[in-house]
Amino acid sequence: MAAQPAEPTVEGTRNALQGRTRNRRGCMHTTKKILICGSGVAGPTCAYWLHKYGYATVIVERAKALRDGGQNVDIKGAGQHVIEMMALSDQIEAKNTQERGQKYLDADGKVIAVLPKGALGTLTNDFEILRGDFAQVLFESTKDHCEYSFGRFVTALEEKAGCIAATFDNGETEDFELVICAEGMNSSTRDRVMAAHTSFRYLGACMAFFKIPRREEDDGWAHSVNGIGGTFITLRPGNEDETTVLVTFLRRDHAITEDTPTMRKALLRRALEGRGAIADRITADLEAVDDFYFGPMSQVQASAWSQGRFVLLGDAAFCPTPFTGKGTALALVAAYVLAGEINRTADHSQAFAAYERLVRPYVEAAQKQLTPRRIRLMHPKSRAGIGLTHLAQRLVASQTVQSQFGPSAAKRAHTAADDFVFADY
Ligand SMILES: Cc1cc2nc3c(=O)[nH]c(=O)nc-3n(C[C@H](O)[C@H](O)[C@H](O)COP(=O)(O)OP(=O)(O)OC[C@H]3O[C@@H](n4cnc5c(N)ncnc54)[C@H](O)[C@@H]3O)c2cc1C
Repeated sequence: MAAQPAEPTVEGTRNALQGRTRNRRGCMHTTKKILICGSGVAGPTCAYWLHKYGYATVIVERAKALRDGGQNVDIKGAGQHVIEMMALSDQIEAKNTQERGQKYLDADGKVIAVLPKGALGTLTNDFEILRGDFAQVLFESTKDHCEYSFGRFVTALEEKAGCIAATFDNGETEDFELVICAEGMNSSTRDRVMAAHTSFRYLGACMAFFKIPRREEDDGWAHSVNGIGGTFITLRPGNEDETTVLVTFLRRDHAITEDTPTMRKALLRRALEGRGAIADRITADLEAVDDFYFGPMSQVQASAWSQGRFVLLGDAAFCPTPFTGKGTALALVAAYVLAGEINRTADHSQAFAAYERLVRPYVEAAQKQLTPRRIRLMHPKSRAGIGLTHLAQRLVASQTVQSQFGPSAAKRAHTAADDFVFADY
């Protein structure tokens, strides 16, 4: 059973950002606030719910301004339900990329299979939004009741009796009730506190994402192409004049020694060489790309999500890789649960334990969907392998399979609601 939207906070819940605050059940908090590191998706979502429950929050973000980069993120399943509870559906719909579905093409652009939005196996979900637009929506919905501090990060944490002291890069130190670390995959604060509990699971491929100018042939559909040698390209509608690009390719070695964007672009160029017309188009546009992400396709696996008053959230705890298309939904669900559990009990250890108990199975199931073997299957190297992949793509898109196994609108809505069982906070 999915929870109903939380009631607005009772009167007098928060007297000031720094001051005595009262939670939903009327308990007085002390003068301490909750510190959230990272203003991506998980951090602001958690701040939103904590505010509903009467907590004062401060978000420190290492970047000098809100990071509005990134590509299409899928908000699906239980993540969609969290968005509905936050009453953000209309704002997201207003920024929907209007992707119509997914087409599989061959390397020269000939259509192999067509999977419209809603079809079995399609990439396209009901909520399709660019990550930057989504981050902006979350920022707008929290900025009036959460203190944001950009260009700031934690340099030291010290647990004391009843609080945790955070020292920032400007030398200032402040006491907080709790610290929530939502700094994304390469979180430095996580590594400072919980490095021994964290590992990365490399899936055997590298990934690059960026945007290129939109062209006439970019028809509002996602276009996915398997290239020889184990390369997979997806082009998707971005904003009006941009097309987003995701390239993944097999690579044995997880270490990326090329550390400048120029060197990384050269690495990508080599992976795209001789991979057909679509790859050539990307290569031609690559020089001018500035918002360029390149990295190993790795998952974050943390054996514990909290230590004392410090807790991990979102990609910092359990990045499933952007290739699952689930990172955003997981972050939304986890942020909602963490805030709810913090509010449910005065004992933070109990709250963190309940949060981990409830969310871990959900994120582990998402992470398990990707294995190095599955990644290899999705990136056939030989012409014969690509031929077989095209056959499978045609089969999935066929009328027979879609009518037999394809989800109806009602089934999709049901699956979305039951994807995660929410406690009623
Ligand atoms: C610029 C960018 C582009 C992305 N593009 C895509 C994409 O195209 N497709 C996709 O599926 N996923 C993308 N992601 C990842 C996606 O946002 C996450 O998988 C998911 O939404 C979970 O969000 P999160 O809040 O846990 O992490 P993130 O969204 O990664 O947010 C983490 C935030 O913490 C900040 N931060 C990092 N270190 C510190 C520090 N020490 N102190 C304070 N703040 C810190 C970062 O600047 C960032 O704003 C992108 C992330 C970023 C930051």
